[in-house]
Amino acid sequence: MSERIGEQGKSRSILIAGAGPVGLAAALELARRGFLPRIVDDGSGPTPMEESRALGVNARTLTLLSPSGVANHILAAAQPIERFRVRSDKKILIQLDTREVKGRFSAVCALPQGSTERLLMEALSVYGISPEWQTAVVADAMSDPRKPEVTLRRTDGTSETVRPDILIGSDGAHSAVRKALGAGFPGEALEAYFYLADFRYAEPVDTHFGEISLFDPGMVGRLPVTADIIRYISTLENFESRIVHPAAIAEKTWASQFRINFRHVEPMAKGNVFLAGDAAHIHSPAGARGMNLGVEDACWLAWLIAEGREQEYSALRIPAVKQVLKQTYALTRLITMTNPLAIAARNLFAPLLLRFGPARRILLQNVAGYDTPRPPWIDWAE
Ligand SMILES: Cc1cc2nc3c(=O)[nH]c(=O)nc-3n(C[C@H](O)[C@H](O)[C@H](O)COP(=O)(O)OP(=O)(O)OC[C@H]3O[C@@H](n4cnc5c(N)ncnc54)[C@H](O)[C@@H]3O)c2cc1C
Repeated sequence: MSERIGEQGKSRSILIAGAGPVGLAAALELARRGFLPRIVDDGSGPTPMEESRALGVNARTLTLLSPSGVANHILAAAQPIERFRVRSDKKILIQLDTREVKGRFSAVCALPQGSTERLLMEALSVYGISPEWQTAVVADAMSDPRKPEVTLRRTDGTSETVRPDILIGSDGAHSAVRKALGAGFPGEALEAYFYLADFRYAEPVDTHFGEISLFDPGMVGRLPVTADIIRYISTLENFESRIVHPAAIAEKTWASQFRINFRHVEPMAKGNVFLAGDAAHIHSPAGARGMNLGVEDACWLAWLIAEGREQEYSALRIPAVKQVLKQTYALTRLITMTNPLAIAARNLFAPLLLRFGPARRILLQNVAGYDTPRPPWIDWAE
C-alpha cells in the first residue's frame, strides 16, 4: 500500500518521551518516512547489556522492522529458538518447532533488550537522530491534549518548555505522559511473583531451544540469552535449586523479581497525545509479547501519523492489546495454577489438544505475533 506523506505534515514537531525499544522504534519509523522527531529519556543510556529484560523477538516484530533494515541485524545477532517444549517431571507434554510457522521468519528468536535498543539507535543515527539522555519529561495535568505542553528537565539543572504538535508517551509503565492525561491504568496485579536469573557458563551451551518445566505447583522456564548465557524464570522463590545447569557456571549475570500486572489504558490517545508500549499496557512475560506488542504500537502509530490518520490509532490498537492481554492472562494462569486437580487436568489435556494440527498452528501463530492485524503498509506476505 502506498504511503501518503504530505510535505507539510512532515514538518509537524513530534516529541517522543522515552527511548526504550518502543520510543526508539517510533522514532525510527517516523524518521524513515521523512519526519524529524525529538526523542528524550530520563535515563543515562540504553538498557545495560547485563539486564536482558525482554528477550523474545517475534516474527511480527521482524516483519515490522524489515523496511528499516533492523530485522536483518537482529537476526544476525539473535539466538534462534528452534524448538520449544513443556515438560512435567521427565515427560514432555508439548513440543513445538518454531520453524513450522508459515512465512519468512521462524516464530521467535532471542536477543537481549539492550542489544535490540542499540540496533534501533544505530539505524536511527543514520537520520541524524539520537536520544537526548538525562532529560525527563515533566508534565502537569494537561488541560487541552490537542495542544500538548511539557517541560524537559535535564540532570544538569537546565529545563525547557516544549509544545510539540504530537507527543508520544513511550515512557514505560509509570508513564508521566499517561498521568498528565489523567488516564487510569485499570487492571489487576497477580499475587504471584516471578523470579529470574541469568547464568553465564564457562563454555557455549545449547541455545537452540526454550523450555518450561512444570512442577506441582510452580514452573521454571529456560530461554537462551546469548551463546553462553541462559535465563531461568520461575514462580518459585527457591527455583535455583531446581535448575539443571548444562555446564559449569562462570557467573550469575543478572537476577530480578517482579510482580505480574495486567493493565491497559483506554483510549490509548487523547487529542495529539499518544501512548505506546508499557505506558499503555503491561502484562506477564508469558508468551514474550511485552516488548513486541509495544514495537507494534510504535510502527502503527508512525504509519498513521505519516498518513495523517493518527486519530484512528486508539481504535485500531485497542482490540490487539485486549486480545494479547487475554491470551497472556490465560497462559499465565495455566502455568501458575496450584490446585492439584487442575494441574492433573492440564497435564492430561494440553498434550492431547496440541496433537491436533489446528491447535499447534494457532499456538505458533500466537507466539509469532501473527494473531494481530497485519501491517497494511508492508506489501509482502509475512
Ligand atoms: C525486570 C524486568 C524483566 C522483564 N522481562 C521481560 C521478558 O522476559 N520478556 C518481555 O517481553 N518483557 C519483559 N519485560 C518487559 C519489557 O522490558 C517491556 O515490555 C519493554 O521494555 C517495553 O518497552 P517500552 O519502551 O514501552 O518501555 P521501557 O523499556 O520501560 O522504556 C521506557 C523508557 O522511558 C524512560 N522514561 C520513563 N519516564 C520518563 C520520563 N518522565 N521522561 C523521559 N523518559 C522517561 C525510561 O528511562 C525508559 O528508558 C521485563 C521488564 C522488567 C522491568
